[in-house]
Order: sequence, then C-alpha cells, then structure tokens
Amino acid sequence: MSRDGVDDIVRAAEDLAQRLPQPLSPLATLAFNYAWTWSPGGSDLFRSIDPARFGRTRQNPVRLLQEVPAATLARLAQDREFVERAETLAAGLRTELDRPADLERSSGDGPVAFFCAEFGVHSSLPIYAGGLGVLAGDLLKEASDRALPMVGVGLMYTQGYFHQRLDRHGWQHEYWVETDAERLPAALVTREDGTPLTITVPIRGRDVLVQVWRVDVGRVPLFLLDTELPGNGIIERWITARLYIGDRSTRLSQYALLGVGGVRALRAMGIEPSVIHLNEGHAAFAPLALAGDEVAAGHDPQEALAAARERTVFTTHTPVPAGNETFEAKEVLETLGDLARSLDPDTIVGLGRSGPDDLNGIGMTTLGLRLSRSANGVSRRHGEVARRMWRPLFGGAAEEEVPIEHITNGVHLPSWMAPPMRELLDRHLGNGWERRAPDAAVWEAAERIPDEEVWAVRNEMRSDLVDYLRRKTALDLLGRGAAEDDVREAFEEFDPHALTVGFARRVATYKRLYLLTYDSDRALRILMGPPPVQLFLAGKAHPRDEEAKGVLQNLFGLGRTARVASRVAYLEDYDIAMAARLVGGCDVWVNLPRRPLEASGTSGMKAALNGGLNLSVLDGWWAEAYDGVNGWAVDGSESQDPSEQDGADSTAFYDLLEREVLPLFYDRDETGIPRGWVRRVKTSLRTAGSTFTTARTLGEYVERVYRPPTVVSAP
Ligand SMILES: *Cc1c(COP(=O)(O)O)cnc(C)c1O
Repeated sequence: MSRDGVDDIVRAAEDLAQRLPQPLSPLATLAFNYAWTWSPGGSDLFRSIDPARFGRTRQNPVRLLQEVPAATLARLAQDREFVERAETLAAGLRTELDRPADLERSSGDGPVAFFCAEFGVHSSLPIYAGGLGVLAGDLLKEASDRALPMVGVGLMYTQGYFHQRLDRHGWQHEYWVETDAERLPAALVTREDGTPLTITVPIRGRDVLVQVWRVDVGRVPLFLLDTELPGNGIIERWITARLYIGDRSTRLSQYALLGVGGVRALRAMGIEPSVIHLNEGHAAFAPLALAGDEVAAGHDPQEALAAARERTVFTTHTPVPAGNETFEAKEVLETLGDLARSLDPDTIVGLGRSGPDDLNGIGMTTLGLRLSRSANGVSRRHGEVARRMWRPLFGGAAEEEVPIEHITNGVHLPSWMAPPMRELLDRHLGNGWERRAPDAAVWEAAERIPDEEVWAVRNEMRSDLVDYLRRKTALDLLGRGAAEDDVREAFEEFDPHALTVGFARRVATYKRLYLLTYDSDRALRILMGPPPVQLFLAGKAHPRDEEAKGVLQNLFGLGRTARVASRVAYLEDYDIAMAARLVGGCDVWVNLPRRPLEASGTSGMKAALNGGLNLSVLDGWWAEAYDGVNGWAVDGSESQDPSEQDGADSTAFYDLLEREVLPLFYDRDETGIPRGWVRRVKTSLRTAGSTFTTARTLGEYVERVYRPPTVVSAP
C-alpha cells in the first residue's frame, strides 16, 4: 500500500459518490482532481449543475456536489447527454492518470519535489497571493501534461491571503476568510491504520505537530502541510493561518515548516525526490533538513551539506534587494534548534551571510544560492540583474561568471487561453496543436486564419468582459452602500465596442500604477475621447504599504471623476478567477514597471494568448518578447533620476496610446475590420503561444536544471 495519500483521495471521492445517484458517480472522481480546470468542457460541466452555487463556492466542485439539492441531482441522473459528458471527461482523466511517466526525460529515480510558499492552482484553493503562486501552479499542471514525475510541497493556509475591500473614498481595507480544508478537493494523507499521518517539526524548541493534505493537480500531487491540529498550542496552530503573515517571527516559522517539514513529510510518505526545486528563497531550509538527516545517520556535516547541495536547485524571483528577506542569525538558529546544532551554527551563519562583514543576518536567497547546485532568474534581463546583485557571494567573480542563469517564465496555455480563442485555433490548427505549440509551423497556420474570424472572436471576448465589468462594478458599488441609481447606471457603463485598456497587478511602488495619472489632464483628455477608450484597474496593495494604498486611492478617484466615470473602474479583490476574465477580453494590457525591477511578469503573456496586445516598459519578459509588431514598447531615455524617468515614461505611454494604439484600433476597412490591428493580434499570439508558455519553460528546467549534472565541477 502506498503511503502518499493516493488511496485517501480515492476514498474521499468514493465517499462523495455515495451522496450522488449512481449515474453521476464519475463527477466525484472528477471533482477530486483539478485536471477538470484545464480539460475542455470541465468548467462547463460543473457550472451547468447549478451555476449560482458553483460561483458561490468559488467554483469548488466538491462543495458544489455536497450542497446541491437532491432534486437537482436526480434530474441530472436522468439527463443522458449530461451523464455522457461526465463519463467522457472521467474516462479522459483515467487515461491521463494511467499514461506511463516520462522517465527518459526526467531527472533520475525519484520525482522533482517543487517547493513553494504559495500555489495558484485555482480560485477554490486560496493559498496564493500572486504571480509566484500562479507560476508554481502552472508548472505543476505542465508537469502533469508532459507526464513528468513531480510533486508539489507547500502549506495549507486556513485563511490564505487577504481579501481587499475599498471604501467609498477608495481606501483599502483587508479581511481574511477561513477556508474549510475538509470541503476542498483535498484529502488528509493517512497511515495504514487509517489515522492521519503526522510528523513533528521542531520549531523554536517545540515539537510542532503537522498533518499533510494531498491535492491532485492532474498527475501531480500537491502536498500541503498544516499545523491546525488539537495537539498544537494556539501559537503553533497559527503558523499555517495566513500566507506571508505580517509578523516576522511567525513567517520564519512558516519557512522552517515549509523547508524542514516539507522534507520530513516526503520522507514519511516514502517519497525520495531526485531533485528539490526551491521556487524562491522561502523554502531554503529544505537542503539543511536533507543534510541534517545524513548527519543523524552518522555522516560528516560538511559532506552532508555538499550532498544536499547536489540535489537542490534554486530559482530566484526578486530583483529588489529589500524583497530578499533576512533574519537575525540568532533567531534563525533558535528556530531551527537541534538541526542547526547538528550542522554547526557557524556554518549555517556563514552560508546565510554574503560575507564575514555582512551584519544583515541570514538571507533566505543567500542560503538558497549557496545550498543549490544550480540557480536561475526568471527572464534574460533578470538573469543579468541577479548576476550583478549576487556577485559578492561568488568571491568577486566577473559578472558574467556568476553562476546564475535564466529561464524565462511562461504560463500554462490550456489554463489561460479562453474557450473562444481556443475553439478558433482548434478549428484552424489541426489536432493536437497545443502540444505542437512550440513549433513555429503551427503559428504559420494561425497567420492564415481569416481576419474576420479573429476579429469576431476578439469582439465576443471583449463583450464577455464588458458584461463581467458591469456586474462586478455594480456589486462593488452595492458593497460600498452606493445609491440605487448609481448601481443601475453601472449597467450602462462600458461599451462592448470601445478600445479596452487594462492594468491589473499588485500595487507595489515599482509597478508605477501612478504613471497612468502622472499627467492627469492628459489622461482625462484621452479617456473622454473621442475616440472611445475605457480603462479598468485592479490589484491589491500590501496591507502595510500606506504609500501604495495612496496610489490606489488616487486611481480609484479617477473612476469617480464625473466626466469619465462611465469609462473607468477599479475592481475590488483581484484574484486568479478575475485575472482569467480580464486577460481574456482586454485589448491592451499595460505594464509600466521601473526598470529593471520586473523580474518577469506573466499576466501580459496571458493577455497575449487571448489576442490582447501588450503596451509595456521593456523589462522582464517583454524585453525579450517585443519584436516591433506584437505590441508596443515604452522605450527611450534611461535616467538615474526616478522622477525624470517617470516623466519620460508617462509621456511615452500617453504618446503611444494617442498616436499609435487608438488610431490603429479604429482604422477600419469597408467591412469594419481593423486589418492592422488584427495583424498585430496574430503576431502577438504567435509570440506568446510559441515561446512564453510553461511548455517551453518546463522544457528548459528539464533539459538544463533537473537532469543530473554530467560534469563534476572542481571543488
Ligand atoms: C498572472 C497573475 C499574476 C502575475 O501578474 P504580473 O503582474 O504580470 O506579475 C498575479 N496575480 C494573478 C492573480 C495572476 O493570475
């Protein structure tokens, strides 16, 4: 019997099936594997059971099936067509799970264990904050698609990340929502005797009891550690309460739990990973735990650390020095306790500091870099920045010799391409085009799709988005206690034919959302038209970042300027489900980071996969994607003076919008088609589809990072 929880998922699905009429039992199997989220027809199947309830449960199919009235189930059991759809999808899932693993291209004996503090798999599993988590989720899905042996390791946060509410003045307030893990598509991993598997992780001198949830993401299990157990004290139970919790010492406990607990949990389940992939520094204690086990078995600490390093690979995502967290050495040593003592505290302190004079303490990224056999940034430009930034760690090596490479991020195409676009390409690109997407020939066929069809799909998607914007705006207004007339007016707002510009991302200072209104007169003039333009904004500010909250409030105010109120909206509580809506129907996706602080960015790739065009500063992924036709670049003078740079970039942005974007969008031929625009859409699709997907990204990890090193480097 396997100990990795695979049977526990089967049992949970069987329990759920008990509640369903027999013909509907395939639904229970489907509900316990997130593969439905990217299988064509999966969302439609569950939504059609009870659309309102599906929405209310954040599209959680387990809760949906637990809560849906018996009469509905009885009716569906009689519906041949519905039952057949469920059976077909369940058969597809079975085939997928039974496919042999691709061992040839994998990393060796065991799976890759992918460690991350957050995973953005789906809106019903709220254990992510933003880009890092969504990337992690996308990579698990891609590993499943290519039958690569991989397991994910993370934490089950009972309250997840904060939700955002904006008051009438546009000020952000935060609140947290409890998730009942029992009602998720997840199962506690149990022992042979049926009791939950628990491990203990020593944190700050206490043995913290940990249980492990299994979530199936296609073929890939995601294991989530949880301290919410009666055997733990209230402080220990709080460790897995909130993602990126504000209190630093609790956050350090989370990192110890993820790194040390993650390694122990895998061992307890009998999983022996060939490679441990630390996706960002939060999990950097994992190689210490690997080494600690070797020392406990009688090996020399230095050799044990060297062996752990040979099994560990690291990806850094943070080009902002302040984003790379450090903790006081004393605190880290206390938190790790016996593990630190067994490996020698001085050694650990040495590994975590950039040099003997470094008084900043132990850096999580520094540890990650020192304890891994390979390291990479997440775009070409970020690779350069990371080499420059971390050069001091490598004994004064020349910048180009610093051993940090880059693998540019990508997004999971089947998860992010909306159905209308996917169906269009299905009709024109031939069977299995998704798997051939990295092949340029696929996209030559896309160039031949008649402009009329591409434009019709774009109109359909914009129209869907406008419906969503109207409903969402009305709901946000109701939540703020707006007058009924204002709410009714919200349904008149937004035009399904107007150029739709979107800007949705974390409201961090370096993302420079304020550039949109840097020259507010000019911004208003453009927004008032003609020609018609509409703008939506979304994104959360960090709860403690008052400056960012001020920026957010300013932008919110723009939407309340009477003259453009019907054309601008700030949408509350950006998340993965909202992102899917926005990137689907948006014509122009804007990104204006301060160079070079955008490591990669991925939302622009999602927009491009749906036929949206990027208008972005040449930073992160866009610096290597932009080809002069597939969108627009805010380029030009680089200044050392931030406010000078802001002025230049905002002018360049308004100029592009006014002189290039708007005229091209409204330049229609006699049949009403903007030929020039459609040409750019096709080019942008080709760029994103061929290069900026996880198919390419994971392929690079497999070839360049996960493979066992063939050359043994000199010590
Ligand atoms: C894709 C995505 C991101 C990443 O966006 P960038 O601003 O491009 O880094 C963040 N949040 C959510 C919900 C996403 O889906």
